[in-house]
Amino acid sequence: HAAAPQHVTREELGRATWVFLHTLAAQFPKRPTRQQQRDARSLMDVLTRIYPCADCARHFSEIVKADPPAVSSGHEFQAWMCRAHNTVNRAIGKPTFNCDLAASRWAPLDCDATGASSCDLSVGAAAP
Ligand code: FAD
Repeated sequence: HAAAPQHVTREELGRATWVFLHTLAAQFPKRPTRQQQRDARSLMDVLTRIYPCADCARHFSEIVKADPPAVSSGHEFQAWMCRAHNTVNRAIGKPTFNCDLAASRWAPLDCDATGASSCDLSVGAAAP
């Protein structure tokens, strides 16, 4: 008998999404353009409506309302993401993460390994 396909759980979805969000924040430019700031804000806003775990989406919507995404610099956005994640951690009884260590836990993708800098969001972007 072949094993039944394993469906994604709320935990797996959460882990995958945090990988995405913290990596995005780690790669967010030091000086984001207005468009990049709008994009980061809308992405968080969209998650509050269509994140696939409805309870989580509702919960995230309260977090975003109480502490709107800080997107004026990569540093601000990374700190905000860590704060938001810690709010979720506390709500579901997980240990909080020391945000001073976020920069060593999460990094931009290593695009230089391929000799390309195409994943640097600041390349080719218009001035703010
Ligand atoms: P995760 O919390 O998934 O974290 C993954 C890794 O991130 C950790 O191993 C650690 O290395 C690192 N990390 C942890 N905290 C931080 C931080 N503050 N800053 C930086 N890095 C950190 N689950 C629910 O049950 N109820 C909810 O309401 C809920 N809401 C969610 C809302 C969103 C937007 C997301 C993305 C997920 C939500 N989840 C929710 C899922 C939950 O947050 C976890 O992802 C899930 O429980 C799996 O937890 P984990 O212990 O594997 O680590």
